[in-house]
Amino acid sequence: MGNDYRTGIGYDAHRLVKGRPLFLGGVRIPHSHGLLGHSDADVILHAVVDALLGAAGLADIGTHFSNKDPRWKNAPSVIFLKETARMVSKKKMKIVNLDCVLLSEAPKISPYIPRMKAVIATALGIPADAVGVKASTNEGMGFVGKKQGMAATAVALVRA
Ligand code: MG
Repeated sequence: MGNDYRTGIGYDAHRLVKGRPLFLGGVRIPHSHGLLGHSDADVILHAVVDALLGAAGLADIGTHFSNKDPRWKNAPSVIFLKETARMVSKKKMKIVNLDCVLLSEAPKISPYIPRMKAVIATALGIPADAVGVKASTNEGMGFVGKKQGMAATAVALVRA
């Protein structure tokens, strides 16, 4: 491993619907609605996975974990995170840190952030202080503000 540092960016959005459990950052959160998707639709983890894959020069989340693949039907996205960590280390790269922002109007996310950081850090094998998780509302504007969905962005740094 040298001193070559590489960044990656990730973005994801999912629709909010009734009758689905809400998973964010690998944590089940009690709420009236959940995110719609093939897997558990964990929008934070999907953004983080894409940031890590991008930093490592790998193809995107949809290529590695296809939403047509029956193996991933309602799958916990922590699986994608663990598999991504394996792919990064296979390329002889080391995850330095990552940071992500959830865009969501409700419910209140802050009580769950320490657990999200712990889940993400454990899945990736990095210290909890190398994982940033933040949340912001969209001030009532757009699909996030109207509670039609949630979005997340993430950046990651790897050392090659
Ligand atoms: Mg997604």
